[in-house]
Amino acid sequence: MSNKTRVAIVTGASRGIGKAAALRLARDGMSVVVNYAGNATEAGKTVAAIQEAGGRAFAVQADVADETAVAALFDATVREFGGVDAVVNSAGIMRLGLLAEFSLSDFDQIHRTNVRGTFVVAQQAARHVRSGGAIINLSTSVERQALPTYAAYAASKGAVEAMSLILARELRGRDITVNAVAPGPVETEFFLSGKDPATVERIAKLNPMERLGQPNDIAEVISFLAGPARWINGQVLYVNGGMN
Ligand code: NDP
Repeated sequence: MSNKTRVAIVTGASRGIGKAAALRLARDGMSVVVNYAGNATEAGKTVAAIQEAGGRAFAVQADVADETAVAALFDATVREFGGVDAVVNSAGIMRLGLLAEFSLSDFDQIHRTNVRGTFVVAQQAARHVRSGGAIINLSTSVERQALPTYAAYAASKGAVEAMSLILARELRGRDITVNAVAPGPVETEFFLSGKDPATVERIAKLNPMERLGQPNDIAEVISFLAGPARWINGQVLYVNGGMN
């Protein structure tokens, strides 16, 4: 499959896994729309890195949970690049705490971005993605590990998995794959924030590779799903170096 004229939208592409995915898909030959929430400077750096390597990209600010902004994101993509072939929904937030004491306002914020955001992006993706395309949502390996303090976040990603698998079946006949990618701990601000070095070291050793995942480890799998992997559909792919 030639990626030459294919187009990707990557949400949360100003930083972390989304940024690595945007750079990787551009390297694969796709034109890339770099979505971000508020960090225009970092989004600009993602765009500049793609352009400096000879690729095509532009940035669009949109809160993924805002249906008007997300519709505008897809409209801008179609206007500038002519269509949409891959949608990677990497925008996400996490807060940790024991369920019994968890702030319901934090719960609502997590679910607004991770659940409503994924749903809104998936809605537009289902309407726009062309035949031969792919929709890739980010879940988490914590979904399966069931670690204490992760209830609100893991619950949001459980919802992401449910909607990904159902959408895969709803798109019957369209030749569009929908999958969830479930990383283990990846060395981004998202993971490192609020953890002391000893905790980071302990978590890094949970997998038999004895290191943290890097954004490129996840981007490689996203690239595979967005490109050649036409027979992987309606799945949750655990990408965590062998962590249980
Ligand atoms: P980062 O915190 O590094 O980056 C988050 C990105 O999401 C930023 O680009 C941010 O934009 C964007 N974002 C946040 N909220 C919104 C919103 N409402 N609308 C649009 N964009 C938004 O996170 P990671 O790259 O580490 O995580 C990416 C995804 O991977 C998340 O869904 C996360 O749940 C998942 N994941 C991460 C793991 C990890 O260990 N890092 C492990 C398992 C899953 P801005 O810069 O403008 O704020």
